[in-house]
Amino acid sequence: QVRNFPLLLQEALKNARAEVGNIRVIGRVRPITKEDGDGPEANNAVTFDSDDDAVIHLLHKGKPVSFELDKVFQEVQDLITSCIDGYNVCIFAYGQTGAGKTYTMEGTVENPGINQRALQLLFSEVQEKASDWEYAITVSVAEIYNEALRDLLAKEPQEKLEIKLCPDGSGQLYVPGLTEFRVQSVDDINKVFEFGHTNRTTEYTNLNEHSSRSHALVIITVRGTDYSTGLRTTGKLNLVDLAGSERVGKSGAEGNRLREAQYINKSLSALGDVISALRSRQGHVPFRNSKLTYLLQDSLSGDSKTLMLVQVSPVEKNTSETLCSLKFAERVRSVELGPGSRRTELMSWSSQEHLETGSVQTPSSTR
Ligand code: ADP
Ligand code: MG
Repeated sequence: QVRNFPLLLQEALKNARAEVGNIRVIGRVRPITKEDGDGPEANNAVTFDSDDDAVIHLLHKGKPVSFELDKVFQEVQDLITSCIDGYNVCIFAYGQTGAGKTYTMEGTVENPGINQRALQLLFSEVQEKASDWEYAITVSVAEIYNEALRDLLAKEPQEKLEIKLCPDGSGQLYVPGLTEFRVQSVDDINKVFEFGHTNRTTEYTNLNEHSSRSHALVIITVRGTDYSTGLRTTGKLNLVDLAGSERVGKSGAEGNRLREAQYINKSLSALGDVISALRSRQGHVPFRNSKLTYLLQDSLSGDSKTLMLVQVSPVEKNTSETLCSLKFAERVRSVELGPGSRRTELMSWSSQEHLETGSVQTPSSTR
């Protein structure tokens, strides 16, 4: 039984809004593919409960293990609405290489993924509010590889980017020099993603291999102004396709591969540590232990909303990694984020002000 994501997303659209304060975790099992082979190792080992599809059953080394996650309904649409309302949101895909993270985030031409759908949902919600609010939606595309943050929309190769805390005391983070494209149509979205993709493809001979070892980020910023009151809101939507979570054998890896594995371990365990600290309500949350958690700090803390998509492979030969991923999911799921306030400000809106975070351009101006 494989979850049909587009259908669930449509379902999500239809459902009423709910306040989402916690980190939500949804499991997604990719279908069995040709690459899984046809031996017993390719047997299906993962199923959803027939009564409750938030419950996943895994058959690991002959023993059944079950995990309860959150249901997908309400989640995605709520998060998009929150972002328009001025909250920071983070949706990330976690799992071993080959478990379907990129498929879920990027999708295909026929079946677009979350990145594309999120922007489409944003456009349609913003349109509905167009009589009272003016919105500007911008997109940045970046990757973190070996703890270096790189702008994938830059026209020319750039120095490593730094992450900075906004000096205004808002607790928001920004990346000086990170390109932001203003998007207004599906056509613009396609151009932006295509541009980022081309940038990545030209740099790496084996993009598949590279992308399993780097975190890919799409950062969408929604800046709104209420025409009548001048109330301003800024919401950020971070869409993250994480590096593969598989454990690399101590003996096998050397040189570059070992270095990459150490960096991935470092950032994924930093993510786990941040989540543990948030869960136990520790005063100090170690956001700065990795670029990933530092960049996502303002989307993981306070009144931010986080959705984690835990991708798992359905087949028997992957059950050890599947078990690890589901355990991580379970650990993440019990986190409650602290109270905070919506990031709104009553002041006159100047379109120049937000240019500080990067150069806002329309995709066409890059061609
Ligand atoms: P990851 O990014 O986690 O390494 P991919 O997204 O590249 O994994 O998925 C691995 C393979 O499985 C790809 O060939 C992809 O097309 C296929 N796949 C993953 N999820 C699905 C799905 N929901 N439906 C159909 N094919 C999928
Ligand atoms: Mg991938």
